[in-house]
Amino acid sequence: MKIEELLKDLDPVTIIEFKNYLLENLSKLCSTKNSNSKIINKFRKEENACKKCGNKLYKNGRTTNDIQKYICSKCKATSSETTNTIINHSKLSFEIWKNVIDNLINGFSLRRIAEENEISLLTSFRLRHKVLYALKHFIEDINLTGEIQSDEKYFSINLKGTKPKNMPRYSKKRTSTNSPYRGISHHKICVVSSIDENLLLKIVGLGRCTTDMLKNSLGQKITKAKSITTDSASAYQEFCKNNNLILNAIPSGFHSNDIYNISEINGIHSQLETWLSKFRGVSTRHLQEYLDWFVYIFTMKKRFMLNKIKTESYSNIIINNNYIKANDIFISKMPIDLNIAYAEYHYQS
Ligand SMILES: [Zn+2]
Repeated sequence: MKIEELLKDLDPVTIIEFKNYLLENLSKLCSTKNSNSKIINKFRKEENACKKCGNKLYKNGRTTNDIQKYICSKCKATSSETTNTIINHSKLSFEIWKNVIDNLINGFSLRRIAEENEISLLTSFRLRHKVLYALKHFIEDINLTGEIQSDEKYFSINLKGTKPKNMPRYSKKRTSTNSPYRGISHHKICVVSSIDENLLLKIVGLGRCTTDMLKNSLGQKITKAKSITTDSASAYQEFCKNNNLILNAIPSGFHSNDIYNISEINGIHSQLETWLSKFRGVSTRHLQEYLDWFVYIFTMKKRFMLNKIKTESYSNIIINNNYIKANDIFISKMPIDLNIAYAEYHYQS
């Protein structure tokens, strides 16, 4: 039933009372027990079919949390509405998940997210990482097709959240002189950043960007692209040759030559710095998730009006197959090899 129809015969006073009632009792009305299931259905876009064999699913009772269960008509595999979704095994209401996503889109701190939703700081941390993890599939689908501007951005290693016993300790035996990677560059994380209509921000490794790093990042993302404009030409020369791309090289230290420029990607870099600074140091372990979140917001702003970004996000993040166990958040892999980064240190990951 449409809400308008429901309210059309009510007088204004009752409507205001109704509104206040809703506001006061929102958490009760939208508790896990009675709302997650309905809301999931509202946002679910695809037909509900068996994930294993693709056949039709039959209803098969409900869980204690009132989540619809299914059984496959052919292979008899059982599943539920929340199987593989981010809210699988979650005792929190959809309302909280939704608010946390809104909060993240608004760039709130963990502490503020915890306060606004009356959840612990740890829960707030977990939800944030679950949401960030959930963007993986969305990000994987983004490709670059047109005239690309490309550059690199270098980040310092941040071991925030690493247990003291796992921190690298300086070792006299292995000094930088006998390390295979000399100079400061191997302490820096290289992120390839490229833009056309879409944006790519990808951790590619340690030290200066190489042709191989480009191949494994940008190379996986270009379909029908024509040209690349960049000021860091050496790695790009071979890359462009291998991919039949025209290379527009801007002299190092300039933002443009007479025809081409890299001002857009430079602009992205400064936006990214400002945005990341709000989080007061992002651990390297989670850096890619934050880069994905930045790309996500960038992409959604290009594709949708502001008021649609949130509802679209609920379906992108909550409904799609994005499940990760809370414990797996903590053991997520380092995107770089710390044994290389700390070659002159005693380090065992
Ligand atoms: Zn099946």
